[in-house]
Amino acid sequence: MKAKRIAILGSTGSIGRQTLEVIAEQAELSACALAAGSSWRELADQAGQFAPDVVAIADESAGEQLADALPDDIEVLIGPDAATELVRRSRPDVLLAGMVGSAGLAPTLAGIECGATLAVANKETLVMAGAIVMPAARAAGVAVLPVDSEHSAVFQCMAAGRREEVRRVVLTASGGALREWTDQAVADATVEDALKHPTWSMGPKITIDSATMMNKALEVVEAHWLFDLPAEQIEVVLHDESVVHAAVEFCDGSAIAQMGPPDMKTPIAYALAYPHRAARSAAPLDLAALGKLTFAPLDERFSRAVKLGYEAIRRGGTAGAVLNGANEAAVEAFLARRIRFGQIVPLVEDALNQAAPCDDVTLDGLLAADAWARTHVAERIEARTDGAMSS
Ligand code: MG
Repeated sequence: MKAKRIAILGSTGSIGRQTLEVIAEQAELSACALAAGSSWRELADQAGQFAPDVVAIADESAGEQLADALPDDIEVLIGPDAATELVRRSRPDVLLAGMVGSAGLAPTLAGIECGATLAVANKETLVMAGAIVMPAARAAGVAVLPVDSEHSAVFQCMAAGRREEVRRVVLTASGGALREWTDQAVADATVEDALKHPTWSMGPKITIDSATMMNKALEVVEAHWLFDLPAEQIEVVLHDESVVHAAVEFCDGSAIAQMGPPDMKTPIAYALAYPHRAARSAAPLDLAALGKLTFAPLDERFSRAVKLGYEAIRRGGTAGAVLNGANEAAVEAFLARRIRFGQIVPLVEDALNQAAPCDDVTLDGLLAADAWARTHVAERIEARTDGAMSS
């Protein structure tokens, strides 16, 4: 049997590395194309191990060093549009979109054009541009498979009934690194504090998003687009152990949950092997050793962030792009130590509240909303206000 050819956007990031680990253990999968931002040494090592046809790197100076380090039979694409070109050249069977942030949008749209199955690990792409990506995928007959653990869980649970029989979906949330902290301590949490996630090992952007709970706001919007669900049918519940990833409740009162130890390689392997299941030596689920699974409603601090996801769905139009752009800008500012942890959510909330309603869900319209949100957050930071005075 011919190996399924996988292209990975963001191959040196947390999801990208774990995707390559899955490919390495599965004989029927191959990595045909790898794209990274600037980590040329790691990309060169990966190319040496997986022998892709083509690699891409966004950073120009890193690109020259990468080209020198690789054998001539591996094509090297360099520059901001290199990832998009990589998708067009490699025409993969599956495009694993693991780039962080809105930069994943253009190459994802290129993947749809090429008829590649989309394995979406980049939730920002759907939050910002679900209104473009999902109809384009439907029109092209391209499957969109979630790699986010909660959404992979929903996707798997959905198989237990028909779409019109779904009453609601429940996404679980770990609460992130600062779950047990007091409000005052949270407000001044450092970058290091917020990066200590209790159950999942992930990249810095998503780990900060988990600590603010903006990750769950983004995931509510992601679920809206992936499964065509209105806000009222999406629920979020706190769950300490990260074992139950999501549940789907059907019209007869039966709820199907998907479980597994917290390991991103499980949803990655599911998306890559779909519609089959890959035989893997993953850690078994030991329920007796766990003893109990705990759940709790969102408290005041967390619901402030999660509400913004519901609000973005209700506003529609370009609101998702505003939500995502403002959050990316605020998290960048926090990681650069220019704002306090407690300012992130208020800055995003302010951007969403101040944005003019706009129904222009073209690529240009969404990019304009994204740019507006980033500028708005930058101006608020410059003015040393998180918008609390104006809202
Ligand atoms: Mg998730």
